[in-house]
Amino acid sequence: MPEIINLADKIKQLLPPELVNFMRVASDVAVSQEQNLYLVGGVVRDLLLERTNIDLDLVVEDNAIKLAQQLVRINQSKITTHPRFGTAKLRWNKWSVDLATARSETYTKSGALPTVKPSSLHNDLSRRDFTINTMAINLNPGHYGELIDPCKGKKDLEHKLIRVLHEKSFTDDATRIWRGLRYEQRLGFQLETTTLLLLKRDIPMLETISGDRIRHELKLVLKEKKPEKVLHRAQELNILQKLHPSLKGDGWLAEKFEQARQLNSANVPLTDIYLALLAYPLTNEDNEHLILRCRLPKSLAQILRDTNSIKGKLQSLSQPKLTPSSIYYLLHGYSLSAIAASLLASDSAVTSQHIHSYLDKLHYVKSVLSGDDLKRMGVTTGPHIREILHQLHIARLNGEINTKQGEVKLLHAWLPHRRR
Ligand code: ATP
Ligand code: MG
Repeated sequence: MPEIINLADKIKQLLPPELVNFMRVASDVAVSQEQNLYLVGGVVRDLLLERTNIDLDLVVEDNAIKLAQQLVRINQSKITTHPRFGTAKLRWNKWSVDLATARSETYTKSGALPTVKPSSLHNDLSRRDFTINTMAINLNPGHYGELIDPCKGKKDLEHKLIRVLHEKSFTDDATRIWRGLRYEQRLGFQLETTTLLLLKRDIPMLETISGDRIRHELKLVLKEKKPEKVLHRAQELNILQKLHPSLKGDGWLAEKFEQARQLNSANVPLTDIYLALLAYPLTNEDNEHLILRCRLPKSLAQILRDTNSIKGKLQSLSQPKLTPSSIYYLLHGYSLSAIAASLLASDSAVTSQHIHSYLDKLHYVKSVLSGDDLKRMGVTTGPHIREILHQLHIARLNGEINTKQGEVKLLHAWLPHRRR
């Protein structure tokens, strides 16, 4: 008889009490419906590693939606269901929990999404990516807390190994290549020898993955605490080059990512700055290929295009005697993420200072008089109204005026000429 490992104490120790309570309630409801309930995947792995993870994934034998609907009645909370996949997302106070019907998968075509059908917990675990993700914890009364480990995930966890379950794993779904690198780098593990060979063999299979799925993987990489480590490893294994041959996961990138984290700018998402820095060495044409390959949405594509366009202005931005309004008009209209990435990428102190002044100050400068105000003050209607407003803005940017009164005074000084 194999030894029974019980993780009930670890659950109590490492998960918030509200979630522990939720699992007890869910387990009681499951019993009343004659269903079985298990905690699976990442959270089990992280409980054993004593790492914080509050993304609960539950597997139900045999109808997750039925269980979720009953739980919603108890807590009067929100639920989203996907009947086609037999999954439900549930809100439990401030927490979000995923419930899935145990299922098996068959891959009819490499890289495409699999055909799924309801099945047992064991089949559900054996469709997963790596052994360390195939463990479950029994939540059924009488067995609460017991570890279920059919693929020897715990042993691999102890040996710090990332191991696929079968020889065709990466062929079936090459996104697992990126997933493997993420776990390896995040946890400081190693790809087990055969897994590494299979991974290298199947790198060409990345071409079978759709743009949407590749973009999703890239996004997950950029959400890691240290994405540069994953990108470096991806370069070493010639995986990054599959995304685009000119991409680099080198020391420069690592240094810039570190600086991006320190910049910690509230109005620019860090992952957008990372992406712009990653794409920094690309030419216009390269950029368009990357945008197409990852089917980047308009906003992200714009960040990459803007970053490229700002590159062409760095020479002008490095002039020490630039007026604030010139700095403003060199950078105005570009996305803030692209500007922030350019700040980090530039190695001229003067340029950095200028971009900083744009981000910290100039970007917020506005003049207050409107076209209507101007008309009330006697300016005749016409295109020169725009020009006057523009000049007022320039005067504001250059610190010549700082108040509405200042604007009015300046306008009066100009008016005799403009009225004619
Ligand atoms: P993370 O901490 O990165 O969220 P996780 O293990 O929770 O890690 P998820 O992406 O949330 O990973 O997926 C949940 C579980 O689903 C995984 O643990 C894994 O077992 C399984 N899984 C996810 N993607 C795949 C895939 N492409 N192939 C096989 N199994 C997968
Ligand atoms: Mg997860």
